Amino acid sequence: MISEEEARARILDTIKPLPERAVPLAQALGWFAAQGYFARLPLPVFDNSAMDGYAVVASACKKGGRLRVTGEQPAGRDRQLRVSPGEAVRIFTGAPMPAGADAIVMQEDVTRDGDEIVINADVEPGEFIRRRGCDLAEGQRILAKGERIRATTLGLLASQGIADVTVGGEVKAAILSTGDELVKPGGKLDPGQIYESNSPLLNALLQRCGAIVNSVEHCRDESESLSKAIKRAAKSDILIISGGVSVGEHDLVKDALREERAEIDIWRVAIKPGKPFLFGQLPTKSFYPAGETPAGPTGSPQDESVRPADKMPVLRNCFVFGLPGNPVSGFVTFLQFVRPAILKMMGAANLDLPQVPAKSAVDLTNDGDRAHYIRGQVEDGKFTPVGRQESHALFGLSQANALLRLAVGQSVRAGEIVDVQIWDA
Ligand code: AMP
Ligand code: MG
Repeated sequence: MISEEEARARILDTIKPLPERAVPLAQALGWFAAQGYFARLPLPVFDNSAMDGYAVVASACKKGGRLRVTGEQPAGRDRQLRVSPGEAVRIFTGAPMPAGADAIVMQEDVTRDGDEIVINADVEPGEFIRRRGCDLAEGQRILAKGERIRATTLGLLASQGIADVTVGGEVKAAILSTGDELVKPGGKLDPGQIYESNSPLLNALLQRCGAIVNSVEHCRDESESLSKAIKRAAKSDILIISGGVSVGEHDLVKDALREERAEIDIWRVAIKPGKPFLFGQLPTKSFYPAGETPAGPTGSPQDESVRPADKMPVLRNCFVFGLPGNPVSGFVTFLQFVRPAILKMMGAANLDLPQVPAKSAVDLTNDGDRAHYIRGQVEDGKFTPVGRQESHALFGLSQANALLRLAVGQSVRAGEIVDVQIWDA
């Protein structure tokens, strides 16, 4: 059994980011920038009006005074107008400032009288002008490498005239649940059977991380069918196997993986819940090196029977995560080991779950020999454990929104501030 820290470090040392790819802005949401982006243009791009109104020379305006309207500048092409003292140009929001003008009087503050306006307010220089570069300077960084692309990032990139973004790879995932006792939801339960609930949970967690789930299979605890299912699933970048990784006679996943020439790098980690966690690599063949494939950016491996004559297979690995079948164990090990691995493959800079400080509602002690993740609820800055703290307790987990990690030997007193992990699933 290795420590949780060592397991995480080994996984993250093994896993490398997938090749980057260019995607149109409309498809870039949620991916991670594969390079830094810098402003090509200042924002605003030019001095412009913040209001519908009149462009004026402030020093030539006084309350009750009259100005002659000499032209009109809508948003759009710059008409190269000029404003002199005693004059005004009709202007609209976003329109470029005419030369000579140093203020906008909003239309609510004037009375129009034919070719003239009467000003009903005091006018200060600079009023209602949006200055070039006041929001964003040219050359300023707008997106860091490894940062997640959000809706607002897309708006900002578009404002720079950028139509395509280079983002990290797309992780294709396969899910394989195992267990003779499991029945697909919708089916009929016989005595001794339970519904299969891990794959919907894992599927959702994978999607939340940004992975593409391209297969979900269930397999009985039977060596041959397991080997076949593993072979099929190995076409993905990662394979998540649920159950069958413990020490019982019906836990056949390890042997089936070895049968498929997998290297098992980690089995059993000092984490509670989740001790039987497994991590390994399955060699798989791909005819196209990643990034070169006609099928997709990450190079989906292909069937030997359709190999083009000029293409030699290259070996690439499918990373295998064997999660314990108990739902809470699967959940916790997914968040601690699988999530950071996926994010690293996708090119994310930050692999950690968000943490928030919270006051523990109760005394807690970890006198075991494994790091213990307590499921709880964070509300109004207070962390309260919820439900049974046992690895099968799915209802308790469903009521939780935070995990408190207690290191071996760690005690927390009621009222103490602790950092807890939260998730968005
Ligand atoms: P295992 O890791 O296969 O020994 O399973 C541990 C426990 O988790 C057993 O009580 C299983 O019935 C349960 N379990 C395993 N896989 C699933 C699943 N996909 N859905 C719900 N429960 C499961
Ligand atoms: Mg089982």
